[in-house]
Amino acid sequence: MRKKIVAGNWKMNKSLSQGLQLIDEIIAATSDLPSNSVLKIIAPPYTHLASVSEKLKSVTGFAVAAQNCHHMPNGAFTGEVSAEMIKSTGANYVIIGHSERRQYFGENDTLLAQKVNVALANNLIPIFCIGENGDERKTNQHLEVVKKQLKEALFHLTPIDFSKLVIAYEPVWAIGTGVTATSHQAQGMHNYIRSEINKKYGKDISENTSILYGGSCNPQNAQELFACLDVDGGLIGGASLKTTDFVSIINSFAN
Ligand code: PEP
Repeated sequence: MRKKIVAGNWKMNKSLSQGLQLIDEIIAATSDLPSNSVLKIIAPPYTHLASVSEKLKSVTGFAVAAQNCHHMPNGAFTGEVSAEMIKSTGANYVIIGHSERRQYFGENDTLLAQKVNVALANNLIPIFCIGENGDERKTNQHLEVVKKQLKEALFHLTPIDFSKLVIAYEPVWAIGTGVTATSHQAQGMHNYIRSEINKKYGKDISENTSILYGGSCNPQNAQELFACLDVDGGLIGGASLKTTDFVSIINSFAN
C-alpha cells in the first residue's frame, strides 16, 4: 500500500530557533495521531537539517528532507551541498525539481536526472516535482509537459530505483498564488501520472508510488484534495510555516 505523506517545504524561511520551536509545536499537536497514519516530512533549509534531524530521530512518523542537492557527488563547487552531506545530517529525503529551482536557477530535466541519480546513490529518497505553468495549462499542453518531465528526468531509472521515489505534482500556477487546482484537475493529473508510470514500470510500481499534490494547499481545501483516489498527500509551502495550518492539513487524512 502506498504511503500517505504530508511534507512541509519551509523554503528560505525560519531561523534555527524559530524552526525548532515550530517542530516542537507540530510534535505536540500531532501526538494523538496513530504514528503510521501519515508520514510527516519536514524540509527545512540546509543549515537546519542536522538539528531538525536530531530532534526528530526518536519521534515516530516523521522524516526530514533537504530542499535541493548538487548534481555532482563532491568537488570544487563553492557554496553547494552534496547528497552525501545531506545524508550525513540524518535526513532521508530530498526535494528535487521544485519549480522555484527550475525557474530561478535554470534547472532542467537533464540536470535533474543527475540529481536524482546522486540522491539515490546516497540512499536519499527524491521527492520529485513536476507540473505545468499557467500558459501550458491554458493551451491544454499540461499532460504533454508532465509526460516529458517524467520521461527526461526519471524514466531512465531501473524499476527498483524508481520504486523508491515520491512524486509531487505541483502546477506552477498554483504555487504560492492562493489559486489551487480543483480536485477534478488534481485527480485528473495524478491519474494520468500514475498511468504513465504504469506504462513504463507496470501496475505494481505505479500503484505503490505516492503522488503528492502541491500548490496553495491549505486547511480549507486539503480534505477535498486528499479525498481524491490518486492523491496520496501534499507538498505544502506557505501553510507549513504555521503550526495550526500544517497540523490541520495533516489531520485532513484522519477526517
Ligand atoms: C511549494 O512551494 O511546494 C508549494 C506547494 O507552495 P505553496 O503551498 O505555498 O503554494
